[in-house]
Amino acid sequence: MRRRFIAATEIQYAAGRQPAGRPSAPGRLALVQAFVNSHFDLEHEYGADLLATGSGVGAWLLEQGLAHRLQPVEEDRRARAVAVREGLRGLLAAHNGAQVDSSALDSLQSAAHGLLAGIVVGDDGRAWPVARSADLEGALGLVLALVSEAQATGSWERLKACPGELCGWAFYDHSRNHASTWCSMAICGSREKARTYRRRSLGGDAGRRLP
Ligand SMILES: [Zn+2]
Repeated sequence: MRRRFIAATEIQYAAGRQPAGRPSAPGRLALVQAFVNSHFDLEHEYGADLLATGSGVGAWLLEQGLAHRLQPVEEDRRARAVAVREGLRGLLAAHNGAQVDSSALDSLQSAAHGLLAGIVVGDDGRAWPVARSADLEGALGLVLALVSEAQATGSWERLKACPGELCGWAFYDHSRNHASTWCSMAICGSREKARTYRRRSLGGDAGRRLP
């Protein structure tokens, strides 16, 4: 299969609409945010997993400018994309105080094995990562290169996964003291408050969950 190079200008780095109008991650990190949030996309059916099928993965790649044509991916390749995504979500949850999920990290490491990114040098002499090929593997290699770039610049730790029940949305913590916990105080924060209140009024049954 011939793999065509994808130009940096074709890539859609934007992370799309954010809960409560929260600004998205800055610069190219927004593409990593968009990838992690392909499970909780507010632009589409809320809570839908855009990578649930091979054709869904193909559509996501096309929409982000990471493919030149709509082409469904096979199941093992789709599973690799989900392993990368959920491994990244595990790391983002750790930025919000959770323990690193070692099984998610293991599957991320396996899924990342052999992925490659390309490099372009701009007219200003700056080099930045691009997709090495216009397909899923090129996209995953780019996403991980962008993670590496964010880790080098210090923006990585500010990308966090919301701990809200059934949430996991990746949001960028723009607050000065990096203390944001929830994707949206109005959505997950207030739900958690209600849960805590209910627990207390039920006599401290910490294990009880509201329906
Ligand atoms: Zn949330």
